[in-house]
This record gives sequence, structure tokens and C-alpha cells, in this order.
Amino acid sequence: MAKPLVATGHFTGCFGCHMSLLDIDERILDLVELVEFDKSPINDIKTFSRPVDIGIIEGGVSNDENVEVLKDFRENCKILVAIGECALTGGVPCMRNTVPLQECLNEAYLSGPTVAAGSIIPNDPELPILLDKVYPCHEVVKIDYHLPGCPPSADTLWAALVALLTGEEVGLPYELIKYD
Ligand code: SF4
Repeated sequence: MAKPLVATGHFTGCFGCHMSLLDIDERILDLVELVEFDKSPINDIKTFSRPVDIGIIEGGVSNDENVEVLKDFRENCKILVAIGECALTGGVPCMRNTVPLQECLNEAYLSGPTVAAGSIIPNDPELPILLDKVYPCHEVVKIDYHLPGCPPSADTLWAALVALLTGEEVGLPYELIKYD
């Protein structure tokens, strides 16, 4: 029987949630037995080869490329799981939401104390266009499950993944649900 397919994706965050996933230690061997990975930074597959059973996404949505990739995940994943505070609330990156975007850019590239003389705001057409704010993933597409934490622990990710793969209800015990 074909193994369930899993994809993982990363938006605006620090990659710590993916690191936590890798932190399942020797259970990674069980995971490889249980599933096949499709698009993911873990295997460096950049595009979906086919629709997958479970998509796991980390990070908030801060630019037009994030929006496009997140919609691609929604379209290609039967179950979409958002992990970590950045995906759930915008996290640390959404601290910029209290300041207008133009002011952020001016501070970062024109007038901040560490800006080199002659700097400009990057404007290469290849660069993603920043959104006015950093959005949580569920404000862009429907999310089926949210796993909080910064990052969620390896045990939390493992328990949720095993439940989803075995068709059980994702009813995590209190000790595995942390918001920090
Ligand atoms: Fe990093 Fe925390 Fe955001 Fe995960 S939730 S991407 S660990 S800052």
C-alpha cells in the first residue's frame, strides 16, 4: 500500500518549527517508514509532485509569495496543519504590524542608525512584495489544525502527526499544548 504523503512549508518565521520536527530524534526512522515526503525544505523538493494527505506549515504571511505558496498548500493538501505562533498569530514578525510599512522600510534601509550611506529600499522586481501587515495563515486560507508553541515541541508534533496518520482524533493532552 502506498504510504501517506506529507509536505511541509515555511513562510515568515525562523525555521525553528521545522527544527522541532527534526527533533523527534530516532522517531524520524519511524516517520520515514510511515510516510513519504513530497514538497518540503527537509528534502529540498520545491514543488508538489501530486496532491498530498497532510501539509504542515510554519510561519506567518508577510508577502505576496507567501500568499501564493500558502494557497498552493491549501489546494494540494487534504489536511492542512499550521504549527507555531508565527503561523497561528503572526508571531514575532507581526511586531511590525504596529508601524506603517513605509516607516518600517525607511527605518531598515534609509534612516536607521546602522544604515550605510547611499542605501536604498530594495526594489528588484524579483523580490516578493511585502504586505501591509503580517497575517496568520488562517486569515488567508482555511486551516484544519493549529498546533501552538514557539516552537511546538517535538513530542507535540509527533503526537499530532501519528493521530492524523492513524485516523484518530487529534486530542492532545494538556502537557503537549503550550503557547510559548
Ligand atoms: Fe520560529 Fe517560533 Fe515562529 Fe516557529 S513559531 S517559526 S520557532 S519564531
